[in-house]
Amino acid sequence: MAFELIDLPYEDTALEPAVSAKTLSYHHGKHHKAYIDKTNAAVEGGDLADKSLEEVIAAARGSDQGLFNNAAQSWNHGFYWHSMAAKETSASDELKSMIDEAFGSIDGLKDKLKERGAGHFASGWVWLAVKDGKLSIEETHDGDTLADQDGVTPLLVIDLWEHAYYLDHQNARPSYLEAVSSKLDWSFASENLARGTTWQYPG
Ligand code: MN
Repeated sequence: MAFELIDLPYEDTALEPAVSAKTLSYHHGKHHKAYIDKTNAAVEGGDLADKSLEEVIAAARGSDQGLFNNAAQSWNHGFYWHSMAAKETSASDELKSMIDEAFGSIDGLKDKLKERGAGHFASGWVWLAVKDGKLSIEETHDGDTLADQDGVTPLLVIDLWEHAYYLDHQNARPSYLEAVSSKLDWSFASENLARGTTWQYPG
């Protein structure tokens, strides 16, 4: 069974002006689709053909960098689309109290995400995750992912690759981070926290 390009969970204009429909048409319709297509082509007919995307990622890590990059990018983008919302969302009481303890407030957390995202060198991802039972901001480089990491539950992610923001914000990554931090889906983060296990790519 082949992996599919999941639909965006909102209209393509829903995140404007933070992320435009034009950006989504390329980012979702071209970049994410290419990662899915390449993952499917690499696993077709082999031992991993019937595995979940998370299993493919774990199997390819450290042994097949090309497949790992495409599978992890397929997962990361699915998680990223769900990390943003068209409407204002709110954190559960459980998440809110963990945020207050770790960062003082949601605004304090947003400031840290913006700071770490702006400071991340070159392409990658900045995450809010639960690590060893505590909230933590994590960074992964290039196509790397938290999807298969033991003891880590990702709650939200922001794409730091230039293709995520160049059409809308040009080289100003801090402007993108400022805009996108107001679109984060705190309901999705709360669901991930409550479940306590890592989100699964639909399929
Ligand atoms: Mn991307």
